[in-house]
Amino acid sequence: MPEKKLRVEFMTMTPDALSLIYAAFRQCYHAGFVADMWPKLLSGDIDPEVQADFVSKTMESGHDSPVEHVSMTFAVEGISRACSHQIVRHRIASYSQQSQRYVAENDMEFIMPPAIAKIPEARERFEQFMDEVQSAYSDLRGILVEHGRKSKANEDARFVLPQAAETKIVMTMNCRSLNHFFNLRCCNRAQWEVRAMADMMLDICKEKLPAIFANGGARCEQLGYCPESPKFACGKYPTREKI
Ligand SMILES: Cc1cc2nc3c(=O)[nH]c(=O)nc-3n(C[C@H](O)[C@H](O)[C@H](O)COP(=O)(O)OP(=O)(O)OC[C@H]3O[C@@H](n4cnc5c(N)ncnc54)[C@H](O)[C@@H]3O)c2cc1C
Repeated sequence: MPEKKLRVEFMTMTPDALSLIYAAFRQCYHAGFVADMWPKLLSGDIDPEVQADFVSKTMESGHDSPVEHVSMTFAVEGISRACSHQIVRHRIASYSQQSQRYVAENDMEFIMPPAIAKIPEARERFEQFMDEVQSAYSDLRGILVEHGRKSKANEDARFVLPQAAETKIVMTMNCRSLNHFFNLRCCNRAQWEVRAMADMMLDICKEKLPAIFANGGARCEQLGYCPESPKFACGKYPTREKI
């Protein structure tokens, strides 16, 4: 039964993203109709660097809604069900996740926390339990099929699967929601697995759309201080109380 590694792949994003965000911002402050400006934006008559500069500066004022017009889609594999449960709590997003009803876990892959992996006796016990689970799942599934559950066997046998079970998910978020996601999940307070995934997504976003994501990440990166209580502060930035 294999251990699976995290993989985050960029799939697609809204075309002409920077120009679209620039146009949306400009419509707020411009007396004319922004659609008349659109061909010039696409042809490059309005320098992309000028657009990026305008967008970055306007975002600093907290005017965030124009970035909602651009979405990005990622495919992720090698995360646990414990991680995906945290991800799907972010409601301003769209998800399509591998089903444990339609896909049988006959050779279940799993995620092992690094803290367990580095202690030999913990690793051994973890792997032993994964074997036990796999065996119970396969036995139950077989018994259910024998008793006529056939295509429904997966959906009942899966009740014994652990949170460590590997899953795959496609997720789409607009840039405002992505920034919020990074604020919460790139923070050292976030759980290690969802943080690793968020960090990989952030690297991709910074490359694809630096005008929006250059200062992305945990809230402290934008604030210059840690908004958490001293109990949860990691020490990277001073807490609000300290400054
Ligand atoms: C470190 C950490 C620990 C956590 N611990 C727990 C825990 O112990 N238990 C637990 O249940 N969850 C926990 N969570 C999950 C957390 O409570 C949120 O559900 C999750 O982070 C999604 O955030 P969100 O609701 O802001 O995002 P989204 O659902 O994407 O929403 C984005 C924003 O839209 C607005 N919004 C969305 N829906 C509503 C609504 N119905 N009403 C009003 N405004 C809305 C809010 O401004 C919200 O911030 C934890 C999260 C983190 C980062």
